[in-house]
Amino acid sequence: MLDKPELNVTIGEHCSNPYDCQFVDYCWKDVPEHSIFTVPRLRWTVKERLIAENKITIDNLPGSFSLNDNQLNYLKSLEMQKPIVDWNGIDGELGKLKYPLYFLDFETDGPAVPRYDGLHPYEQFPFLYSCHVLDEKGNLEHYEYLHESDSDPRQPLSESLTKTIGESGSVIAYNAGFEKGVMSRLAQWYPEYTESLQSIIDRLWDQLNIFRNFYIDYEFRGSNSLKDVLPVIVRSMSYDNLAVGDGTEAQVAWNEMIRLKNGDEKNKLNCNLKEYCGQDTLAMVEIHNVLTRQSD
Ligand code: SF4
Repeated sequence: MLDKPELNVTIGEHCSNPYDCQFVDYCWKDVPEHSIFTVPRLRWTVKERLIAENKITIDNLPGSFSLNDNQLNYLKSLEMQKPIVDWNGIDGELGKLKYPLYFLDFETDGPAVPRYDGLHPYEQFPFLYSCHVLDEKGNLEHYEYLHESDSDPRQPLSESLTKTIGESGSVIAYNAGFEKGVMSRLAQWYPEYTESLQSIIDRLWDQLNIFRNFYIDYEFRGSNSLKDVLPVIVRSMSYDNLAVGDGTEAQVAWNEMIRLKNGDEKNKLNCNLKEYCGQDTLAMVEIHNVLTRQSD
């Protein structure tokens, strides 16, 4: 194969779907930092037409394609080299918050072969949560629960969570539908926590909505995930250099940790997991602080 000429393959959706290809760095090396691939939610049918015509640079848009407001704002932000922010909209959303604020994030696992009673194949269950609590005076406290053995984590985690989150105050998550799903399933499995968990679900507030609807920045490069938004909004923070870098790595680390006996290796994985999940909720706190300062 190495003797033959290089295959003439075209980049496209297949480079990341169903899995990220390991040759992306090579095949995508000529794609500019801002291109048709960083326009938010641009359909692959459009991108594939442009790829076929060798028009992947941003100046090929909008052209004959109709773009939605978010996509046009991304292009505008890129042209002006600054974010486009609807502060009235952000004020309206922030005005719905009630203190104390609970910044919440779960890490979950969902193996093909269910590990505990009542689970379906691939059904997600939480093994770790992080919660930063911010009061009206700006005092910040941190709570967390990490299940350290291979027993079922759902009941002790539910108990800890319902003790940490009080009966009043908004619960802030990033892409809150995920947290809602996790807690809805816990509420079904453990009726003794249903009332408390439902109260938490009812108070969820999604920080992602701010970056979907009111704050568009070309520096997010078409993404509004926390990992892409954080280093732009809070320049001093990023996910670089964390030993656990994403949710999949957290699953791998947890599965390794629960099989280990107490000792240095287990402690290291324990710390890495808590650091990663804690970073997610601290990131939301810092983003919240920037938004509230700037909207004043
Ligand atoms: S990155 Fe992978 S899938 Fe994409 S064109 Fe290259 S080899 Fe093919």
